[in-house]
Amino acid sequence: MTARIIDGNAIGKAIREELGAEVADLKARGVTPGLTVVIVGDDPASQVYVRMKGRAADELGMKSETIRLPVTVSEPDVLALVDRLNADPMVHGILVQSPLPRPLNFDRVVNRLAPAKDVDGFHPVNVGLVVRGDPAAFRPCTPAGVIELLVRSGVDPRGRHAVVVGRSMIVGRPVANMLLQDVPGGNATVTVCHTKTADLTRYTREADILVVAAGRPEVVGGAMIKPGAVVIDVGVNRVDDPNREKGYRLVGDVAFAEAKEVASAITPVPGGVGPMTIAMLMKNTVQAARQARAA
Ligand code: NAP
Repeated sequence: MTARIIDGNAIGKAIREELGAEVADLKARGVTPGLTVVIVGDDPASQVYVRMKGRAADELGMKSETIRLPVTVSEPDVLALVDRLNADPMVHGILVQSPLPRPLNFDRVVNRLAPAKDVDGFHPVNVGLVVRGDPAAFRPCTPAGVIELLVRSGVDPRGRHAVVVGRSMIVGRPVANMLLQDVPGGNATVTVCHTKTADLTRYTREADILVVAAGRPEVVGGAMIKPGAVVIDVGVNRVDDPNREKGYRLVGDVAFAEAKEVASAITPVPGGVGPMTIAMLMKNTVQAARQARAA
């Protein structure tokens, strides 16, 4: 069997086109959705992500701004900036790019965000409301993107066994929770695995839907996958490759070449979950603008 490729670029583009119409509608009513991204330091991967987010917002006709702070900035100064953005009515969404360089504390900074502007969905109020299933809450972008990929590629988790590898607050835990909820794209029976799981393969081999967010290159091989399973690979890892101009290539947490011979559908890396993360950030920002207008 060769798996169907779940194309995150195409699905992300479709979502952005839908959002373009919504942005135009909001603008006609006098509201331009505004996204401000804050980045501290010069981590190269973070710089790339921030540029992509800004570009996506610009393309949709939003008001986008990137605030770059030096690595030496103090935490009180970052918090003061967050306060200023919280109070600015032109800013509907605020994203603080992670990781923050030490000694800055990401949780303390995120806790300072106004929950109504927390379009990354990491503020404890949004975390709690998402667990409750409140549709007004901001779902974190990568897990929400995973669910959207499943729904839009015709994979219904209802009644199926979903196994999530990884329990981080950014991906594993929220995606497991979303798969569990009694809504379209949910209703799975969910197992969550982590580094203390004894015999990972025992669980991954039982997955009808396997979501891998381990942050380890190609940790899930073909023999760990149930024939016919749907595999969503969240991982993005740089591995050395002297044959590439940059000296590295990107691989997922799943060994793609092996896995695609076993799975019925699979996301590639790159071009799977990555574009969805950005699409869902745009979706959350439009939602923030809509909700601010209604408030
Ligand atoms: P993380 O914070 O490092 O968490 C990794 C999780 O995987 C942890 O819960 C860890 O378990 C578990 N794990 C690691 N190795 C394992 C193994 N061999 N067996 C079972 N569980 C294992 O990573 P993350 O932030 O969730 O990100 C995961 C991956 O997704 C990374 O590759 C990251 O780059 C990627 N990512 C992609 C996007 C995107 O937009 N495409 C966005 C976010 C993240 P413990 O809790 O026991 O340590």
